[in-house]
Amino acid sequence: MTRDYSDIIGHITEAEKILIFTHANMDGDALGSAGALCRSLRQMGKEAFVLIEKPCPEYLAFLADDYLSFAPPFKADLSIAVDLGSAGRLEGLKDVFFGAPKRLCLDHHIRTEDFCEVFVVDPAAAAAGCLVYELFKKMGAPIDARTAELLFAAIATDTGSFRYSNTNSEALGAAAELVGMGIDSASLCTALFDSFPICQLKLESLIVERAELISGGRGIISYCTEEDYRACGALPEHSETGIDRLRSVMGVESAALLRERDGALKLSLRSKTCADVRSVAASFGGGGHLRAAGATLDMPLDEALKEVGKALAEELSRCAARD
Ligand code: 5GP
Ligand code: MN
Repeated sequence: MTRDYSDIIGHITEAEKILIFTHANMDGDALGSAGALCRSLRQMGKEAFVLIEKPCPEYLAFLADDYLSFAPPFKADLSIAVDLGSAGRLEGLKDVFFGAPKRLCLDHHIRTEDFCEVFVVDPAAAAAGCLVYELFKKMGAPIDARTAELLFAAIATDTGSFRYSNTNSEALGAAAELVGMGIDSASLCTALFDSFPICQLKLESLIVERAELISGGRGIISYCTEEDYRACGALPEHSETGIDRLRSVMGVESAALLRERDGALKLSLRSKTCADVRSVAASFGGGGHLRAAGATLDMPLDEALKEVGKALAEELSRCAARD
């Protein structure tokens, strides 16, 4: 697929003060693609910041820098959204985002809303980082070692370190080129995927212990509560990898994890080859990708476990019928 960056490049060239936004509850693709874009724009002489509402999670802190800001340091003439499929996921930053006279979006979620003047959206892109990297190449933008690390982290995150079904030649090719720029990919992967505090493993073990198989073992569902965080000495961010443990169970096509977070109930869904978890998430008011999606639910945990289990079982029987 050819992506047309000409309008985005035109707006970036004209702008002087740029704010970059990404989705709440940031992950490595959100931080990596936004941070890389910000660094490169600064090196092109722009004033740029990535605006965030909540602190970066501890496991990503090694990638965070002075490009992050909690308050807008200026009135922007351009807002750029990366890895952001809907305005709702800007949460409390919506007003600042829409306060700029022009808005651009570089994203790889299925587009459901028109919240920007210009979009480059491609759901076939493995990560928003792939689109930012392609934009850099089209613009001849500077990519220093730190920017290359951020882009690599973005792509490695959303491909599950190049294991998920979205891993394509573009993602692998970009990663190869970034490694060719001299970054230490092994250290980055260790920091991103193989270094957890012990409380995170304790929380994962609780999640695994109470997991229930559904649909004859093709689905799995579990949960964790605010009380669990206290019991394990963990923070809600330490629950992020629970869904990966569930997904890894042999024979499981699709996994669901419900997590209490900041007074709300967060649903994460994953699938391997066939279940359309985006549509399951959409039935609860959420969204995402075909194989990784989520939603925020407004119901008690026990009811949510029943409703999500039912919706997932239905999608698993649809997908069995499709096979
Ligand atoms: P996670 O399970 O890691 O929180 O989210 C997986 C994917 O689902 C994200 O990349 C995002 O695309 C999508 N997602 C998660 N939560 C929500 C939500 O509340 N609303 C929407 N629209 N998408 C979500
Ligand atoms: Mn992403």
